[in-house]
Amino acid sequence: MAGIAAASYLAVSGICIRQLEDISSSWLVASWIIAFTWLFLLIRFKIFSRPQRFLFLLGTIVGLNLLAQSTGGEQSPLIFSVFLLMGIAAWEGDAKYGFWVAILFSLLEAFYLRKEDTPHGIYLYLRWAAFLVSAIFLAKIVKTRKEKELLDHHLESLKNEADQLASHAEPSSFNVPKDKLLMEESRLSARMGTVMELEEALTRQLSLFQKSLPVHTVVFFLLTSIQEKAVLRLRAFSSDSKDIAADVTLLPGETLVGLAAKEGRRVLLDQVAPDSSKALPYYLKPNSIGSFLAQPIYLKNPSPETNSETEMEMVGVLVLDHTEPHYFKERELGLIEQFSNLLGETIHVARIMHFSRTKTRNLHALYEVSHSFSTLLDTNRVLQTSLNTAKEISACDSAYIAIAEDGKNFIVRAWWWPVKNLEKPEKLEEELASWVLENKKPIRYTRGQKDKSLSAFSKRDGMLGSIQSFLMVPLLAGENVLGVIRLNSQKPDSFQEYDQDVLTTLANQTAVVLENTWHVQQIREMATRDGLTGLYNHRYFQEKLGEELTKAERYNKDLSLALLDVDFFKKFNDTYGHQEGDKVLKIVSEIIQTTVRNKIDTVARYGGEEFAVILPEADGNVGKELAERIRKNVESHLFENNGKTLYRVTVSIGLASYPFDARDQKTLIQLSDQALYSAKEGGRNCVRRFKSAT
Ligand code: GH3
Ligand code: MG
Ligand code: MG
Repeated sequence: MAGIAAASYLAVSGICIRQLEDISSSWLVASWIIAFTWLFLLIRFKIFSRPQRFLFLLGTIVGLNLLAQSTGGEQSPLIFSVFLLMGIAAWEGDAKYGFWVAILFSLLEAFYLRKEDTPHGIYLYLRWAAFLVSAIFLAKIVKTRKEKELLDHHLESLKNEADQLASHAEPSSFNVPKDKLLMEESRLSARMGTVMELEEALTRQLSLFQKSLPVHTVVFFLLTSIQEKAVLRLRAFSSDSKDIAADVTLLPGETLVGLAAKEGRRVLLDQVAPDSSKALPYYLKPNSIGSFLAQPIYLKNPSPETNSETEMEMVGVLVLDHTEPHYFKERELGLIEQFSNLLGETIHVARIMHFSRTKTRNLHALYEVSHSFSTLLDTNRVLQTSLNTAKEISACDSAYIAIAEDGKNFIVRAWWWPVKNLEKPEKLEEELASWVLENKKPIRYTRGQKDKSLSAFSKRDGMLGSIQSFLMVPLLAGENVLGVIRLNSQKPDSFQEYDQDVLTTLANQTAVVLENTWHVQQIREMATRDGLTGLYNHRYFQEKLGEELTKAERYNKDLSLALLDVDFFKKFNDTYGHQEGDKVLKIVSEIIQTTVRNKIDTVARYGGEEFAVILPEADGNVGKELAERIRKNVESHLFENNGKTLYRVTVSIGLASYPFDARDQKTLIQLSDQALYSAKEGGRNCVRRFKSAT
């Protein structure tokens, strides 16, 4: 275009200038020098970016005209410099300045020539036409140049951003001690504060590109996989239309977008028929589209091991459309090519970023969890620690651990549930529970996923509420499923194979620790319980009484202690035998246990056929009532011997209270014992408070 403009300018102005007469050559040279010096200064001092540029332009045109008039008027060779001025004004300032120069100069010439009688030759009009044509070409050239500059600038800044990402993406090594890992992590997370996640970065780039090209819509489909099946998923877009469908998944081969991916080549439609534009998968409503282009995006040499430049991996499809037909021409295609490379780079960098970040974070999290597990012996804390780690590892928005309580029901025992519109479940869905018990394998599931082995629950998608995908890993101890860790996401396809691997490692650790914890709990339990009756033993009773007394003291509460002794038990043993005596002790302990307040009172086997009941927050009166109830319940129970002989057993109970009778543990026991003695003395099968014993 610049060539055409220059040629037209030279041709027309050459014709316009005829032989000069009556002009001294020194005056001609001087005016040439003045005009060119002035034009040079206009460029040198960037006059056209200053506020007074209009005055300068006006002054220069008038000045040039005066010079031209005095050096031959119509035939002055200074007319050349008018073309130059047009060029400078348009290039340095704005495309429209060229027009002003052309029009103003022509008007001034017309003004000077208006009084002359001789008819003006065709050359004058030709020259004016040349001015205008040149101005039009100039404007076009300048506009194109400015657009290109803007695009280059955008491309440059995007490229810088990508370079910056890449240079900070790769931590030197993962096989490093904890301190270093931490440093690496904080360094990375600091960088992450300034750079965006993939989707954000893509959207920004698309939006810049959409506006600078410009096109109606630009969409990026990421090539990803759901359960090893390749799919194209809409990940970012920018459009003049408000009808973009935000969540679209296509199979390669489906629609024009899928076709580009399947065949690995650009699909370009210069004239989209109204019918076809309805079939564009990323619109909710049909938009009237003239041109369409789908371009596969490749990553060069994705794996460094292959070391070959020709290795290419398709990462997605870039789709552009425009309302006008035949829109994508050489210039547009060139820019799209450049932009595609940039997109590929962005995805590459985001991948490195994501992988290194999660790897560092996960190693650190697993290190932490194994460290804290070693000191944990409380089931709830083990579960909570494991859950905290799990949710750190993966991008989930809710999570829980459910424990198989009776080998069948998986009850939720630890949870992180910030989801507002969905109630926290009490247990794992039955279909999932039986699946995991049968298969003992992890599940990665996204809504709508078709998988025969998962059909038991996938046909009931509704059970997931607003959850779009989940990852569930069993806690396996050998062949035993102890429970599951489950991570949920409101987004589809949130969990990748890598997440599954890391969560499995965590689940294995958790299962081992959980089993150990349960063993320890069992041993602890055994150490505190009495073998015959299952009640707490004497040692535990002493410990517990100490704790309860401390509490009573701190909170200023009462506490009563009841000691029970079976009446004439020696004789019973003698009559029915020791074994029968043991049965009686078991039943008596059950009667006591069911009579006292659940989860408040503590029943223990104090010795032989003696029992102790700690009654917190019970003064002498409340204690006596409770003791009386026990006595009555034992008395009313009809024992049988081998289904034949029926007999009754009675107990005597002694009671003392804190702080009324005694303030320390030893005295309290002594006084209860004294009360018990007094109950025996008083005829047995009765309750005596210490007070009443004195
Ligand atoms: P009382 O308490 O009414 O004064 O008379 P008693 O016959 O119950 O007397 P005491 O409490 O002194 O007797 C304790 C008897 O309880 C001794 C023993 O035969 C019996 N005994 C203690 N521990 C057990 C046990 O674990 N199993 C059985 N079968 N009997 C036990
Ligand atoms: Mg006794
Ligand atoms: Mg006795």
